[in-house]
Amino acid sequence: MAPRKLAAGNWKMNGTLAALAEVEALAEAHPAPGCDVLICPPAVLIHPLSARIEGRGIKLGGQDCHAKASGAHTGDLAAAQLADVGASHVILGHSERRADHGETSEMVAAKARAAHEAGLVAIICLGETEAQRDAGETLDVIAAQLAASLPEGATAANTVIAYEPVWAIGTGRTPTTEQIAEVHALLRADLGKRLSDGADVALLYGGSVKPSNAAEIFAIPHVNGALVGGASLKAADFGPIVAALSAA
Ligand code: PEP
Repeated sequence: MAPRKLAAGNWKMNGTLAALAEVEALAEAHPAPGCDVLICPPAVLIHPLSARIEGRGIKLGGQDCHAKASGAHTGDLAAAQLADVGASHVILGHSERRADHGETSEMVAAKARAAHEAGLVAIICLGETEAQRDAGETLDVIAAQLAASLPEGATAANTVIAYEPVWAIGTGRTPTTEQIAEVHALLRADLGKRLSDGADVALLYGGSVKPSNAAEIFAIPHVNGALVGGASLKAADFGPIVAALSAA
């Protein structure tokens, strides 16, 4: 099995019911894409969206889940609750959650374990800050984050890794193709040592992916797709990214 190509949209805290029309437009424009397409809207939109796009092949995901299956955790969501309303994936350890909510890699691993128990694919995000890159620490930071964030029981079927340099998210800046290639090669080699099917784990790049740079990024070895923020909100932007990945 080769890694499955995945175009994943992270809507973050954007969008209301009115925005669901964008996903319908995406499905109409790309009825049979040559890659998996995933939208991770705010959790309150997963259920209405699943009803609106039923049978269209677009997958839905959450942006976080709790490590526990249920209980007294006001404001949190359990992985099984996401699955119950139609999610197949959940983004975990996004740098905004690591920064805003103090999430450590160990917490991310616990959440990923919970996601797996609920039958969700965990999209585990890793990435260096600008200061860490400037200090020449990128590969060490990524290796350490992977080692601590990957739970026992991870497989190519239940885990996706997203490399998202913190300084590239929402900034319009992207690493060079060599910089992306270097990190993805490290991830592929490291996963090959850790998991029996590590060669098949999908590796996403994320950070200011847009229609104009998507094809170049998807041509980089071991880049099997993208995690896309801002450019996933509009079908007119996300559609060309899906098309570029389908053609890669
Ligand atoms: C993200 O938040 O995962 C992301 C990659 O954002 P953007 O595409 O807007 O940089």
